[in-house]
Amino acid sequence: MARRKKIYEGKAKILYEGPEPGTIVQYFKDDATAFNAEKKDVIDGKGVLNNRLSEFFMTGLAQIGVPTHFIRRLNMREQLVRNCEIVPLEVIVRNYAAGTMSKRLGIAEGTQLPRPIVEYCYKDDALGDPLVTEEHIAAFGWASQQDMDDILSLALRVNDFMSGVMLAVGIRLVDFKIEIGRVFEGDFQRLIIADEISPDSCRLWDIETGQKLDKDVFRRDLGSLTDAYSEVARRLGVLPKSNVTKPTLIN
Ligand code: C5P
Repeated sequence: MARRKKIYEGKAKILYEGPEPGTIVQYFKDDATAFNAEKKDVIDGKGVLNNRLSEFFMTGLAQIGVPTHFIRRLNMREQLVRNCEIVPLEVIVRNYAAGTMSKRLGIAEGTQLPRPIVEYCYKDDALGDPLVTEEHIAAFGWASQQDMDDILSLALRVNDFMSGVMLAVGIRLVDFKIEIGRVFEGDFQRLIIADEISPDSCRLWDIETGQKLDKDVFRRDLGSLTDAYSEVARRLGVLPKSNVTKPTLIN
């Protein structure tokens, strides 16, 4: 079998050239990293769960008319996605204070925010993805004013969709990060949701108990990350078949 051309290897995923022009194969690794890769581990099964969960969220978004890069899942660890030019921003939407916002502004984790707050970080590992303002984004040409209007509207639509989906299974969407891609259709460019949406990039708390079901379990050593992600997948009904209890001789 011909070897595929690797385009890029990141902390949690590998991108390969896709089978058709304009496509990419996105492979989900089991590697977990935190604090800009200062903390690292390999978590058995994480890639399989994130592949399924990202498929689930991206498919749901497409169904409500939010464009995404997702084309189809290929196997347990890989999905076919549209090749796009990534806007060099991490777009964070927060509904409750947590993480760096709590640290930066001294607001207790879990405090409900008066409205969803959108933040932008410049994507640069060497700089630790610093928080930037729309002034920086416009001045340095990372995105146009029209792009920023579209990005804000996409981010808020993703927030509404994800908040509703999670609420329905007893989970609070505290915050999340998305990445945006540009695709060119003839003379026009369109912005779409790219990368992944998974518990690696969201904060998800059980509504009743406050239990964390996201990457903070790894960041803060709170137990098994696979158990947390499996619980999210189980509630959403997207557990891979191999994890479903096998019938025994008795039943
Ligand atoms: O760390 P912070 O509180 O800024 O993170 C906000 C949200 O963005 C969290 O859900 C976190 O998982 C996500 N995030 C991410 N990738 C980063 C930084 C933050 O997915 N590089």
